[in-house]
Amino acid sequence: MATLYEDAVAQIKKAYPYVTLTDGTKKIIEVPKEMLFANLAVKRDDNSTEVLPAWRVHHSNALGPCKGGIRFHPDVCEEEVKSLGLWMTFKCAVMGLPYGGGKGGVKFDPKKYSQREMEAVSRAYVRAMADFVGPDKDVPAPDVYTNSTIMAWMLDEYNTIKRGSFPAFITGKPEGAGGSKGRGVATALGGFYVFQDAVKALGLGEKLTVAVQGFGNAGMHMAKYLHEAGHTIIAVSDSHGGIYNKDGLNIPKLMDIKKQDKPVKDSREKTITNEELLTLQCDVLVPAALENQITVKNAANIKAKLVLELANGPTTLEADEMLNKKGVTVIPDILANAGGVTVSYFEWVQNRMGYYWSEQEVFEKLKVKMAESFSQVHQAGKQHKISMRTAAYVVALERLKAAIESK
Ligand code: GLU
Repeated sequence: MATLYEDAVAQIKKAYPYVTLTDGTKKIIEVPKEMLFANLAVKRDDNSTEVLPAWRVHHSNALGPCKGGIRFHPDVCEEEVKSLGLWMTFKCAVMGLPYGGGKGGVKFDPKKYSQREMEAVSRAYVRAMADFVGPDKDVPAPDVYTNSTIMAWMLDEYNTIKRGSFPAFITGKPEGAGGSKGRGVATALGGFYVFQDAVKALGLGEKLTVAVQGFGNAGMHMAKYLHEAGHTIIAVSDSHGGIYNKDGLNIPKLMDIKKQDKPVKDSREKTITNEELLTLQCDVLVPAALENQITVKNAANIKAKLVLELANGPTTLEADEMLNKKGVTVIPDILANAGGVTVSYFEWVQNRMGYYWSEQEVFEKLKVKMAESFSQVHQAGKQHKISMRTAAYVVALERLKAAIESK
């Protein structure tokens, strides 16, 4: 069976027939540029020491400094960080951002760590990676199970090591530490803008039924925007399981439950499994959790007409082909969830200018960026008669080609 990274490269190759690339360019983009590995020694509250494997990968810096989040999760591994880094290269390129792609991760279970221990992990990560990152080199951000508080600790550690104030070293910071307004909801809002454009382009109608897998930062806010727009969210899930209500779930109530760190099934709605959620009868499916969720095992049973990938890599290569054959439109991760990195870019720009925008300005600029990229991808798809995913890779490859082959 192909690995996650091999599948990611196989996806790029599907776009090759539509872009003229030199062999050299292909060789460069099919491998990560460089990677740093470290074992982080972290003191637990009981004074024992844990050693946590940690990575930072630079997939490409052809278009600018590497950009991408840091993931804290027990399943983090080199293969995953490499794949996520590659997707960041293509995400930034499809959005026309002046960034390459990077990614980081620490393999441990943050749910079993206290606040103080989390701070120790975050600071140890920056100490290990300090010379590998930087505002003009590689700009980290939040990802699964990391957040603005963690970004603030990391910035503080970086500033201490480098003896200065470098807010553009990291994005997704709290506003008080130089963060951008709107960054917290940006992934979901960007996804919502793309959803609106896609619904219009496909003529899907006004009131749709939606199932959202994952109720973290991205999934929860996406459910909120869809709910506020009058759509019916019939199912959501988190790592403890899913819930279902054919008449629509009470999203504000679920958000309250989540804010208290409780699982969504505490809402006493009818519970469903992850598999049931993915294959529900609905118009739109929003995978907003982890990679490898839509696979050969369930793709044939997916009933949604539109799949909007808020997670990175939720659909395997083979499952993607099955969905295409079934006529399901998949808005690929590198476009659908690019709102996060786009507002990260705005944050970095504001840090470098030392001039900060209102939330309204941020949202307006985000909407313009998402609409531009959606329309370019949609156009490329129609022109070459290819899926939105391959079309997104074509748009991104054109930009990477221009940067790599001009050297
Ligand atoms: N982790 C997010 C992603 O996968 C955001 C990255 C960023 O803001 O740099 O797109």
